[in-house]
Amino acid sequence: MKLLRFEAGDGARLGVLDRDRVLDLTAVDPVLFAPDLGGLLDGGDAALDEARAAAPGAPAIPAFRAKPLAPVPAPSKIICVGQNYMDHIREQKVEVPNSPILFSKAPTCVIGPGEPVRWPAGLTAQADLEVELGVVIGRRMKGVPANQALDFVLGYTVLNDVSARDLQFGDKQWVRGKSLDTFCPIGPVIVTRDEIPDPQSLSLSSAVNGLVWQDSNTREMIFPVAELLAFICRGITLLPGDLVATGTPNGVGVFQNPPVFLKPGQHMRLEIERIGVLENPVEGGT
Ligand code: ZN
Repeated sequence: MKLLRFEAGDGARLGVLDRDRVLDLTAVDPVLFAPDLGGLLDGGDAALDEARAAAPGAPAIPAFRAKPLAPVPAPSKIICVGQNYMDHIREQKVEVPNSPILFSKAPTCVIGPGEPVRWPAGLTAQADLEVELGVVIGRRMKGVPANQALDFVLGYTVLNDVSARDLQFGDKQWVRGKSLDTFCPIGPVIVTRDEIPDPQSLSLSSAVNGLVWQDSNTREMIFPVAELLAFICRGITLLPGDLVATGTPNGVGVFQNPPVFLKPGQHMRLEIERIGVLENPVEGGT
């Protein structure tokens, strides 16, 4: 099931994307299928089953009339991992890490498909993109071992870990360079975990103005999704709706030769197999 938060003229709604149609779950039950995902996240797998049952009878609108919104409106936190792809390790000529290198992005940087990425004029001259498999947590996780971790996932989305490289490397701590407002586009949908039983075999790519920057596969991950989740929740409670960004493959702008960075007026297109395409314009310094 492809869960879609969308707008079609009268505020946010929750639906299911079914090829070229959107099935409006909020019209069926505005509490269980509340547009903020609250009902679905509180209800767990039983609520997902109800969504599956309700979708075929829900009012349908053509997909082109539904403007996609960020599929997770308000994560309590966004936990990310650095240097988690073997091909990205090779291009940086750094050591393979012994354990995941965690950092975070501020939840306020989340935007939806089509929304512009911008920053205060003059704050950064080195904005860059990173295509990542985004994991949406479905149930509260604390001390869950890796062999059970994927059962706690609601689903997967495309996540762009936009990064201001001059701030990221200049500050020593990465949080500011990773957390500027608009620096976390996500979407367009959450594909529920039953449709992606193995998250370690998905092709993923990014392109800027039609030129491919990244083209890899999640099998290049050093720490697979299940191990990452177990590593994080050993000491940090993951809540329903939290996002985990699982790292990016090679080809980001800063490690190209010569380095390239995002410029105002450019268009980013990120794609992950079985999930979809996330597109955002670069507005730049404003
Ligand atoms: Zn990243």
